Amino acid sequence: MTERLQKVLSQAGVASRRQAEQYILEGRVSVNGKVIKELGTKVTPGKDRIRVDGKIIGAEKLVYILLYKPKGVVSTMSDPEGRKTVKSLVEDIPERIYPVGRLDYNTEGLLLMTNDGELAQALTHPSHEIEKTYLARVLGQPAEEKLDRLRIGIRLEDGVTAPAKLILLEHDREKNITQVEIIIHEGKNRQVRRMFEAIGHPVNQLKRVSFAFLTLQGVRRGRYRHLTTAEVQQLK
Ligand code: URA
Repeated sequence: MTERLQKVLSQAGVASRRQAEQYILEGRVSVNGKVIKELGTKVTPGKDRIRVDGKIIGAEKLVYILLYKPKGVVSTMSDPEGRKTVKSLVEDIPERIYPVGRLDYNTEGLLLMTNDGELAQALTHPSHEIEKTYLARVLGQPAEEKLDRLRIGIRLEDGVTAPAKLILLEHDREKNITQVEIIIHEGKNRQVRRMFEAIGHPVNQLKRVSFAFLTLQGVRRGRYRHLTTAEVQQLK
């Protein structure tokens, strides 16, 4: 069965579909020794010899990881500034996995990692509206009316946020910090932090506790577990 070259590359975990297209356009991909720059090119996985930057692409086993990222770790596989990366937390996984979306350096919590480019792309696409739950410790004691502004949607510099779900949890009088649960389905850069900044209650600590139906239950900070086959099916 033939498949489009960019699909085969993303399924092999080389890159997301869009990145794979870029690699093809840049002339970095060859099929049976010939550089291919046409995006629609059909290939037969397992038969045609596909290389990216000269390296043969094999049919890699698909791996799905749920990592409890600690704070003080970047959610990329390398860091030009030399900070600790999530790669160091999944070093014993031989497949070339990469994070599904991002968590800030100082945010802890649930981060999925996979080499399934198709699924990674689907999960991060805004149209899928996957709910992500965060526990935020914010400065001060936000009034319900202020939270309502986030529930409706608030203007940030890159647009208005979609309605969020918020629940006020507890207030620590001594530290003047309030714990709030917030559920969003978008993935703008530093979104939760910017939303609370916009209502005058900056985030002091942030933790992602769930992604769709997945939670951190049973996973220690800095550790990971493999998703079950049923969980992978449910995500698709
Ligand atoms: N929102 C943020 O502000 N930071 C994250 O890491 C995730 C969501």
